[in-house]
Amino acid sequence: MKSVMVYCEVENQKVADISQELLSAGKRLAQKLGCPLEAMIFGSSLNGIENQIAPFGVDRLFVGNSMRLEPYRTLPHAALASKILKEEDPQIVLFGATSVGRDLAPRLASVLNCGLTADCTILDIGDHLVKKEKKEYKDLLYAIRPAFGGSIMANIINWDMHPQMATVREGVMKKEIFDEHYATEIVEVDVNAVLKEEDFVVKIIDRQIKESGVNLKDAPIIVAGGYGVGSRENFDLLVELAQLLGGEVGGSRAAVDAGFIEHNRQIGQTGTTVRPKLYIAAGISGAIQHTAGMQDASMIISINNDPDAPINKIADYVIHGDLGVVVPKMIKFYKQN
Ligand code: FAD
Repeated sequence: MKSVMVYCEVENQKVADISQELLSAGKRLAQKLGCPLEAMIFGSSLNGIENQIAPFGVDRLFVGNSMRLEPYRTLPHAALASKILKEEDPQIVLFGATSVGRDLAPRLASVLNCGLTADCTILDIGDHLVKKEKKEYKDLLYAIRPAFGGSIMANIINWDMHPQMATVREGVMKKEIFDEHYATEIVEVDVNAVLKEEDFVVKIIDRQIKESGVNLKDAPIIVAGGYGVGSRENFDLLVELAQLLGGEVGGSRAAVDAGFIEHNRQIGQTGTTVRPKLYIAAGISGAIQHTAGMQDASMIISINNDPDAPINKIADYVIHGDLGVVVPKMIKFYKQN
């Protein structure tokens, strides 16, 4: 039966954000194709994990629940996933473009002898293109992804591949609950029957997780600075404003390249994609590579001394002025209130 399948990642019994985003995107594709949405998840202590997954409209969930599956190792996860994919034969398979997805998806694409479109930012069904091409293909995954370092957007369809496989960037798909009470069929995978001793040749001796302390993706408020901020010292003003508002500080690539702010705070096509409730863009012109990563913010305030800065076109409010004057006034206001 035709289906869309999502590989879900889990950490400490919580389904990863990227997997929730993929489930939402997968549901939209499944609805277009008129087919079920399926998901697979492997790890330990997964009892009740379906409660986090079902609301995305998942029709069937394959659960591999065993101490042997955590932490993630390539071979056991690949063995389970390839068995399920061979048996279920989905039309489309989605992975996060995370370290796990980037490790697993190419291996599975090789096992199944299908292509893989990596690092996608937009997914759709490509029937509208098929008419243009006058070809007999239907129900193909149509993916858009940045190419050549982000200087062009590539539109990709794998004509002859089955299944159609893709990895998707974190943060680009919107999380959408389909139905809080959706009835999902749970299929328990017999892990021990599938896995062999050679799937465990890699032993994990130690695991060190480096916390960056930066969480732009989940920040409700972001104060972002651009090249117009002028210096690393001036960025301290934005840090102060962000702290007062309970938000995070981000920056444009020009600000990162100039050394005003760390690389892990870059927002945009080659940085993080964000969707905060409030995005304050100070001294940012609004190049397309920047707006690609923040245009879905609920409210955008631009502070710029150029009234014709492109970012003003997508901003809800524009403060026309020198940020060196405007930002200290904002700080003073929020300190008093
Ligand atoms: P500028 O374009 O120099 O704009 C500075 C702004 O500050 C201007 O609007 C100016 O009017 C204003 N200004 C100056 N002084 C003041 C002041 N005192 N008060 C108020 N306003 C002031 N960019 C990203 O941001 N993210 C990406 O992920 C990204 N990826 C890229 C990938 C590729 C392949 C390429 C080619 C480019 C990428 N870029 C990215 C770069 C992008 O094209 C722009 O160059 C960059 O976003 C510009 O940054 P900016 O707006 O801070 O600087």
